[in-house]
Amino acid sequence: MGKVTGFMEFERVEEHYEAPTKRLHHYKEFVAPLSDADAKVQGARCMDCGIPFCNSGCPVNNIIPDFNDLVFQGDWKNAMEVLHSTNNFPEFTGRICPAPCEAACTLGINKLPVGIKSIEHAIIDKAWENAWVKPQIPKTKTGKKVAVVGSGPAGLAAAQQLARAGHAVTVFEKNDRIGGLLRYGIPDFKMEKWLIDRRVEQMQAEGVEFVTGTFVGKEALGKEVKNYATKTVSAEQLMKDYDAVIISGGAEQPRDLPVPGRELSGVHFALEFLIPQNKEVAGDLKNEIRATDKHVVVIGGGDTGSDCVGTSNRHGATKVTQFELLPQPPEQENKPLVWPYWPTKLRTSSSHEEGCERDWSVATKRFEGKNGKLEKLIGVRLEWKEGKMSEVPNSEFEIKADLVLLAMGFISPAQQILGAFGVDKDARGNAKASVEGQKAYYTNVPKVFAAGDMRRGQSLVVWAIREGRQCARSVDEFLMGSSVLPR
Ligand SMILES: Cc1cc2nc3c(=O)[nH]c(=O)nc-3n(C[C@H](O)[C@H](O)[C@H](O)COP(=O)(O)OP(=O)(O)OC[C@H]3O[C@@H](n4cnc5c(N)ncnc54)[C@H](O)[C@@H]3O)c2cc1C
Ligand code: SF4
Repeated sequence: MGKVTGFMEFERVEEHYEAPTKRLHHYKEFVAPLSDADAKVQGARCMDCGIPFCNSGCPVNNIIPDFNDLVFQGDWKNAMEVLHSTNNFPEFTGRICPAPCEAACTLGINKLPVGIKSIEHAIIDKAWENAWVKPQIPKTKTGKKVAVVGSGPAGLAAAQQLARAGHAVTVFEKNDRIGGLLRYGIPDFKMEKWLIDRRVEQMQAEGVEFVTGTFVGKEALGKEVKNYATKTVSAEQLMKDYDAVIISGGAEQPRDLPVPGRELSGVHFALEFLIPQNKEVAGDLKNEIRATDKHVVVIGGGDTGSDCVGTSNRHGATKVTQFELLPQPPEQENKPLVWPYWPTKLRTSSSHEEGCERDWSVATKRFEGKNGKLEKLIGVRLEWKEGKMSEVPNSEFEIKADLVLLAMGFISPAQQILGAFGVDKDARGNAKASVEGQKAYYTNVPKVFAAGDMRRGQSLVVWAIREGRQCARSVDEFLMGSSVLPR
């Protein structure tokens, strides 16, 4: 344990955020990692409380008390080793994880929790700066070949683990660049993309082969697919060429809002706006959907919605409004009731702080416009009783809207790939595979495994990393009869 009385002596220190007035002028990250001295203070606050609830609150089970102590002792290199023993990509989670570990921190019962995520961020950034992060090249090769379909955090974590176990791994990605939603979804101002390139280089040195612009599961390129992929490879071909296949293609089908006026120009899915924006920042093209000088309405209150708010404000929107169907959550959770679980409470993201009007218990009745062009949104207020919603009589209202972004979540994976492999679906349309027992991550199709959002539905980067790691162990066991990869 760090400092025995640290939790009584020191307060939580937050990472420094650049002021909204400045950061709105660019797409770069604006959160600076803790200084060594502040990270040490944060580490000293850890009580090493006996049962580290933070460790089970973290989906990859980061060994948090140990790295907190090592940072307090100034042993950053070993802190990195501890962090990497459970998490392939702490520089991603240290930036964009919502930190369920902190909701589970024991100190958080009556004080502010240890800033675990900020310590993780500081450790891994220092590790890269000091060139401590090296490729881990396997000493022996197994001669087995594994194909991974999809290069999001689940596919990348699985590929890295399997390559380190000595297998020849090829990652197939339909987009032109590697990273899944890390690359084309999450804005640069939350996570800059060179961070992915740096890991890709490490993985290439470890033997992973990346094949981009290649759509898996179709014989001919359909019109829609031609937008990004230039090649296809059939499911049959992969089954023939590889000893095992992991499908980790994400949950790509967005939830639509089929109300009158949905077809008007100016109503878009969130990713139709966010993907080209990341491509624009990368210097590849210009985002045709502009929020500049517009009244923007974002429908949906989650991460994706918040990213639309931040991007719209960077475009120079006149006004950004965000609607949520559910009622406004409480500002503070009832700690004794919910700890150590993830609480429902009002969350204000850095994008909200940059300027946004938020409203809850609102449903959209229709969109209206002229000459096919969106002009306004007609909404209605809702009343929630015992988990059921009803419209408040005579509460219809209208709001000026030049751009509406639908950010209401994702319902399931693209079904085409599941069909191509003949993989069974669960009740929600995800790839059906259990995470328990001897056959964890196995689908119904021999030698085909599923992981990440494609299996569990829309989730988080840290859950995708967990699934990729665990799936890799299952694949390794399947190929070799046993595995030394961590569970
Ligand atoms: C806008 C947005 C913001 C988010 N912000 C956060 C956040 O701040 N923090 C957080 O923890 N989570 C966030 N999430 C969720 C997080 O990004 C996902 O849970 C995570 O990326 C899922 O990882 P994955 O590897 O399962 O799938 P994905 O990241 O979706 O990757 C799947 C990959 O598979 C490829 N693919 C699919 N089908 C095929 C095919 N047939 N052939 C070849 N390739 C294929 C896709 O092109 C894609 O690259 C956000 C999600 C969105 C949409
Ligand atoms: S990965 Fe997320 S939950 Fe785990 S320690 Fe880091 S911030 Fe916490």
